[in-house]
Amino acid sequence: MIEQGAMHPDIEQVLFTEEDIAAMVKRMGAEISRDYQGKDLVLIAVLRGAVVFMGDLMRSIDVPLAIDFMAVSSYGDKAKSSGVVRIVKDLDMDIKGRDVLIVEDILDSGLTLKYLMKNLSSRNPASIEVATFLWKDVEGKQAAINPKYVGTHCPDAFVVGYGLDFAERYRNLPYVGILKPEVYS
Ligand code: 5GP
Ligand code: MG
Ligand code: MG
Repeated sequence: MIEQGAMHPDIEQVLFTEEDIAAMVKRMGAEISRDYQGKDLVLIAVLRGAVVFMGDLMRSIDVPLAIDFMAVSSYGDKAKSSGVVRIVKDLDMDIKGRDVLIVEDILDSGLTLKYLMKNLSSRNPASIEVATFLWKDVEGKQAAINPKYVGTHCPDAFVVGYGLDFAERYRNLPYVGILKPEVYS
């Protein structure tokens, strides 16, 4: 487990430690295992941010499952989600009649997931739900979709670690933290 002294110098504050995350993932895995007994579960992770969460979550689920991956890229302003996304890598699997659970790193506006859910729904899965590790569920802000499984709520700050990047860095941090403002400028 990471020591306080081992914290990355670009991180201002650790929001969720490795231990916090392990407990959340274990709880989510138990919820999903209970709900998907006897179903035909397919976990679909959105590359690349959800990879770390996917790896942990799938090992905390004890019903049979398959995994697949999608990569999307959003159009327009990089800092703000437009909700218009292009599929860069599509599923390898046919999801018709199967129970799809989209695995996401963080839900902010929810526009990316709204688009994905609409796209995947058109392929006629038996069911489709969302498991997000973090949810920026803050007052006065409404997400475009409602995730069924949530690791934890998160303040409306830019966070990195546990798969989440800034300019493709910090994905390997085992905790979730807020970046120091000087890193952006
Ligand atoms: P949404 O469409 O829900 O507004 O945006 C979701 C996507 O934006 C996430 O999957 C993630 O890639 C990115 N994102 C949103 N907030 C953060 C954040 O605080 N940190 C990082 N690293 N990415 C974020
Ligand atoms: Mg994501
Ligand atoms: Mg990113």
